[in-house]
Amino acid sequence: MTDLFDLEHIWHPYTSMLNPLPTFKVKRAYGATIELEDGKTLIDGMSSWWCAIHGYNHPELNQAVSDQLQKMAHIMFGGLTHEPAIELGKLLLKITPPSLDKIFYADSGSVSVEVALKMAVQYWTALNQPAKTNFITTRSGYHGDTWNAMSVCDPVTGMHQIFGTSLPNRIFVPAPQSRFDGEWNPQDIQELKQQIEQHHHSIAALIIEPIVQGAGGMRFYHPEYLRQAKALCEQYNLLLIFDEIATGFGRTGKMFAWEHAQVEPDIMCIGKGLTGGYMTLSATLTTKQVAETISRGEAGVFMHGPTFMANPLACAVALRSTQLLVEQDWQANIQRIEKILAEQLTDLAQLDHVADVRVLGAIGVVELTANVDMKTLQQQFVERGIWVRPFGKLVYVMPPYVISNDELHYLLAQLIEVVKSMQGDNANVLA
Ligand code: PMP
Repeated sequence: MTDLFDLEHIWHPYTSMLNPLPTFKVKRAYGATIELEDGKTLIDGMSSWWCAIHGYNHPELNQAVSDQLQKMAHIMFGGLTHEPAIELGKLLLKITPPSLDKIFYADSGSVSVEVALKMAVQYWTALNQPAKTNFITTRSGYHGDTWNAMSVCDPVTGMHQIFGTSLPNRIFVPAPQSRFDGEWNPQDIQELKQQIEQHHHSIAALIIEPIVQGAGGMRFYHPEYLRQAKALCEQYNLLLIFDEIATGFGRTGKMFAWEHAQVEPDIMCIGKGLTGGYMTLSATLTTKQVAETISRGEAGVFMHGPTFMANPLACAVALRSTQLLVEQDWQANIQRIEKILAEQLTDLAQLDHVADVRVLGAIGVVELTANVDMKTLQQQFVERGIWVRPFGKLVYVMPPYVISNDELHYLLAQLIEVVKSMQGDNANVLA
């Protein structure tokens, strides 16, 4: 099944080239279905890592790409502009926090995080506070794989040990413990408060994934954390950066997760679902005040300008994807998915080897008591006709919003059987 050339020559995410995990070759994908080379079909539980929100091979998104292709696939953004970038920008400003007013298009989520961090540093330099160059963040966060994005990822589950002192030293505080739907524990904010009080002279910004910590542990935390964090940022002159790359475009039940707390950031990163998973595009949005301050600084400009900035194909499909989302009753649809996830998954929490089950919007998480053996588990899922890619102790789904009730029930029934079977004879899938 695994392609030999692929196995020997092509690097896949986070894999060894000595002992690579098997890969499954995909022939095509449509709706919430992935069809493998041998004709086997899988119901998709991953939305290709949060991004394929409208499913695969969507006729209207295909059309948007081919229409734009007839005009131009790409054009440089230095000194030139185009309709897809402008129309997308107008729509993004309508659905993001009202105080955000300026948009910087970049290539990927990680790059949009780099851009956000650079904006924060340039902002304070422009205000004659050049010592404010560091960042504070919570543990269990994930912000991407490029250098500075990596430096603000969780220092244990992230890549800090491997890269050692080559990574800049950031200030980490414990991850919020109060659950999204639980009681707020005021202790949660104490360490952040203390660290900010102590180090604010050297900190440019607090960067955080609002409400859902994604790849750092799939944790959902209390909105009060964001309200108090915002107050601290205001009190001690820190910018607040929200990384909404995973949480954006309806995934948590709100268009963006900041809405759960009604806290607006100074800078916000979006990506993933932006193009409906068609191609890579991200954006870093900021306020008029931040953008104008940077522009009044000595440099007079913001120092970033990627080759594929605002790629027209990507902007055109992002525009259509975002229109598709806002034109439908997307909230009711996410609630439909949320309800089924909660109904089906909750009982798993009673199993001895399940530590926790949590659902928010179109995200369902089963946290086990031990790490899973990804290779064995992945194979079992594929044999049962579903695409679920666990990591660490987490078996989780975030299906495309177009998934039907029947497809979702099938996906979850198979997932549940596999999780249940992990006890007894099959306990070896827990590594
Ligand atoms: N931030 C968050 C919250 C993410 O989930 C991701 C991707 N998993 C990134 C940043 C990085 O995005 P990309 O992989 O597009 O560089």
